[in-house]
Amino acid sequence: MEPQEEAPTPREPVAQPPGASRSQMLTQAEQREGGEVDDASAEGLWELPVELVERRPECGRCSRPQKVCLCPFLPEHPLHISTHLYIIQHPAEENKVLRTVPLLAACLPRDKCKVKIGRRFSEERDPELSAICRSSGTLILYPGAEAANLEEFIIDSPIYPSTIVIIDGTWSQAKDIFYKNSLFRLPKQVQLNTSISSQYVIRTQPTNRCLSTLECAAVALSILEKNISIHETLLRPLQALCSFQLQHGAQIRLSKEHLLRNGLYPKPMPKNKRKLRKMELLINSVKI
Ligand SMILES: [Zn+2]
Repeated sequence: MEPQEEAPTPREPVAQPPGASRSQMLTQAEQREGGEVDDASAEGLWELPVELVERRPECGRCSRPQKVCLCPFLPEHPLHISTHLYIIQHPAEENKVLRTVPLLAACLPRDKCKVKIGRRFSEERDPELSAICRSSGTLILYPGAEAANLEEFIIDSPIYPSTIVIIDGTWSQAKDIFYKNSLFRLPKQVQLNTSISSQYVIRTQPTNRCLSTLECAAVALSILEKNISIHETLLRPLQALCSFQLQHGAQIRLSKEHLLRNGLYPKPMPKNKRKLRKMELLINSVKI
């Protein structure tokens, strides 16, 4: 699961005709993907001089812009693993600038890492996913009272897990996907009992122990494959991404927990009682 905010990323300036609004500057790709232009704002759009925003060329392996390709930090060959990783990605994650899943996928064999994008899944529309969720060898990584500790679970499990499902999105998106799709209640629910602090320091996270999707996958795979070097290898491109961003103006985003505990939280405390309670729990380090 990804934390919510992103650090500013250096972007190339985009040429816009004077007065052009964002809706008038929809790229061809966005329009193809169903970028919404309502009738009123679309009127007169065709008379504008056409100046399309070009996407910077992306590296075919790591999906980063070619100028900041992270391939030198990826393993030379995809890692040998027997576990299948199934990533359920919220549609909003796909277009984020700082994505960790393409880096993860670039480190793994194609047949071992599948990314499925969407918010709602059903037995009828997603027979492959349903079969995976129904398999007794499948786990879903989602923390909570019902979740077993992955390390302990595999010791006692009669069937060694062959597949792990991970949800990629902000905490609220992941929660929505997990609770609103009954399919995801079928696999055994597991969580990581880790004291590792996130190294993904350029996005604000609820606590220092909230890990990005790539970090979650790295820890889970190193446990399931019983190979600690997997963790190190998968984290290398993420460390490179963070250090590049920091060198180019991104700032270390301290977690909300850190800011609250040290009286550095920059916004007024929420008036909403439920939100306030959540903040208090963060300060007192109670798992939420
Ligand atoms: Zn690359």
